[in-house]
Amino acid sequence: IGYIMPKVLISGASGFIAGHCILEMLSHGYEVRGTLRDSARGEAIKAILADYTDRIDALEFVSADLMNEASWVEAARGCDSILHVASPVPVVQPEDEDDVIVPAKTGTINVLKAATASGIKRVVLTSSVAAVTSGSRDSGTFTDQDWTDLSRNDLSPYVKSKTVAERAAWEYAKQHDLELVAINPALVLGPALEADYGSSLEALYLLMRGSYPILPKLGFEIVDVRDVAILHRLVLETPEAAGNRYMCANGFRWFVDIAKTIKTEHPRLKIPTQEMPNLVAKIAGVFLKEIKQFLPDLGRVKAIDNSPALAIGWQPRDADIAIRDGAQSLIDLKVV
Ligand code: NAP
Repeated sequence: IGYIMPKVLISGASGFIAGHCILEMLSHGYEVRGTLRDSARGEAIKAILADYTDRIDALEFVSADLMNEASWVEAARGCDSILHVASPVPVVQPEDEDDVIVPAKTGTINVLKAATASGIKRVVLTSSVAAVTSGSRDSGTFTDQDWTDLSRNDLSPYVKSKTVAERAAWEYAKQHDLELVAINPALVLGPALEADYGSSLEALYLLMRGSYPILPKLGFEIVDVRDVAILHRLVLETPEAAGNRYMCANGFRWFVDIAKTIKTEHPRLKIPTQEMPNLVAKIAGVFLKEIKQFLPDLGRVKAIDNSPALAIGWQPRDADIAIRDGAQSLIDLKVV
C-alpha cells in the first residue's frame, strides 16, 4: 500500500549500456528517469525498450546535456540515486581532444553537483578500463589500484577523457562527502537493443561485414553488456561498495579469437581469421583512423582482475557469449 520504489536517474538513456541499465533497474522494481540530449527521441526509445520489459510505465525521460549544468539539477530532483553513464564515445577520435574531454569532465561534475543539490547520497559512475590500463606498464594484470598516466603522450582523446572525468569525480566526492562508486568496463559486447547500436559493437560490425581482409594483433578484455548493467545495480545496492572502483571484464580475447567465434556460428559470412604482422598494422593505421587509436596496444595483453566485483556477488557470463550474442543481435536487427 502506497510504497514507492526508489527512483534512479540514468544519464544518456539513448546509449547501448544505459539501455541495458534501464532494463535491469526496471526488472528489479525501480522507477527510472532517463536523460536524453534530444528529448524528441523519447517515444522511439520507449517503443524499443517496451519489447524487453513489462514495466515500461515505470520509465520516464527528461532532457539534459552534459554541458548544461541547470539541466542536471532539474533532472536529479526527486531521484534517490544516479547511474551516470553518458559520456562521448567517438568511433573516430576528434582532431581537437577537448571535443570529448570537456563534455566528459564537465558533465560528470555537473551530475555530481546535481546529486549534492538534491540530497542524493550515491552515484555510480560508468568509467572505463581506459582510465586504468595506460599507466607505468603496458601489459600484465590490472586492478583497481592502477591508473592511466595523463602525462603520457600516446593517449587518445577518449582515453584521456575517461581518466580526467573519473579523477575529477573522486576529487569531488571526497570534498562533498558523496558515496561514489566507479565501474570500469572493458570492451562491452553482448546484444544491441536497436539497429542504431552505438560505438562498441562497431568492431563486430566491421568483422562481420568483412571490412578488413586480415586482422591486427589486438586483444581486449571483454564483458557482456547485460553483466555491466547488473554490476551497476549491485554496486548501488551494496553498502560497502561506496568509495570503490570495480573492474568490469571477464576474459581476454585477440581479434582473431573474436573472429573465429563468430565464424563458427555464421560460416556463411566472409569473416577474416588471419592476423596481420604488426608492421603492416602500423602502416594501415596511417590510413585507417579506426585502427590508429589502437596502435599503441598492438600485441599487448592487458588483463583485468575482476575479483572485487565477484566478491560482491557478480557472476558475469563468458566473454564468448558476449561475442556470440552481440553478433547474433546485429543479424537479428538486420544491421549485417
Ligand atoms: P553510446 O551508446 O555511444 O552511449 C553514449 C551516451 O552518452 C549516449 O546516450 C549519448 O547521447 C550520451 N552523450 C554523449 N555526449 C553527450 C552530451 N554532450 N550530453 C548528453 N549526453 C551525451 O556508448 P556506450 O558504449 O553505451 O557508453 C556508455 C558509457 O560507458 C560511456 O561513459 C563510456 O565511456 C563507457 N564505456 C563504454 C565501453 C564500451 O565498450 N562500450 C567500455 C567502457 C566504458 P546521444 O545519443 O545524444 O549522443
